[in-house]
Amino acid sequence: MKYVGAHVSASGGVESAPLHAQAIGANAFALFTKNQRQWVSKPLTAESIRLFGERCAASGILPQHILPHDSYLINLGHPDDEGLAKSRAAFLDEMQRCEQLGLKLLNFHPGSHLKQISVEQCLDRVAQSINWALEQTSGVTAVIENTAGQGSNVGNEFWQLRYIIDRVEDKSRVGVCLDTCHTFTSGYDLVGAYDLVFDDFARTVGFEYLRGIHLNDSKKALASRVDRHDSIGKGLIDIDFFRRFMRDDRFNNMPIILETPDETLWAEEIALLRSFE
Ligand SMILES: [Zn+2]
Ligand SMILES: [Zn+2]
Repeated sequence: MKYVGAHVSASGGVESAPLHAQAIGANAFALFTKNQRQWVSKPLTAESIRLFGERCAASGILPQHILPHDSYLINLGHPDDEGLAKSRAAFLDEMQRCEQLGLKLLNFHPGSHLKQISVEQCLDRVAQSINWALEQTSGVTAVIENTAGQGSNVGNEFWQLRYIIDRVEDKSRVGVCLDTCHTFTSGYDLVGAYDLVFDDFARTVGFEYLRGIHLNDSKKALASRVDRHDSIGKGLIDIDFFRRFMRDDRFNNMPIILETPDETLWAEEIALLRSFE
């Protein structure tokens, strides 16, 4: 079975997210558990936590189908120690918020080398950051998202995801999320070489580590290394990809999240995807 939803708004409190998900016919969703553009946010209140749990239960959406996304400011591979410490503290706070909400996954972009260290040195730092955060938490899996490789972002090639996983001590609490826009623009031809791309993923990373999908079309071309999402069927990823994806059992039982730009289309996009099953 497929669990499809969108990255819904949590403005006014995390407890609003399950209501937004229900309103668009979703059985999965993503959210920010704090303001994604600020380093520090107020702690979650007991009331928010209670309502979030109640509303998720009422909607029938399970914790394993909810994929919170961390703040865009966090760089777990930061080249300087001060920047790294600040990012790690913020990431730990995000993990603890997930623990408080009873959530199982935390999705994040691996990091950026900022042209000051090598890709491998940056990936080493990301892995050490994950180990540091996992030691202090329980029950939450660190879910590494692949990137488009824009600027100095790491995580745009499958081997890099594997490189991080290999250095994480608790393999039961590390996983990956594939963003289809990022996969395409980083150079994997989802349209012309569907089987080759996922065979490569299976060999290099392994589907046993796949914890979620960001299902997005792309405004930018294959291998452009530019991250611009588009609505399903409106961008450069052929609709046949999405049809095939929805019939591929390897993507069952995990959150499939739209991060498409026009939220007024989410209900329609979910219905369209459902019609492909
Ligand atoms: Zn992301
Ligand atoms: Zn994404």
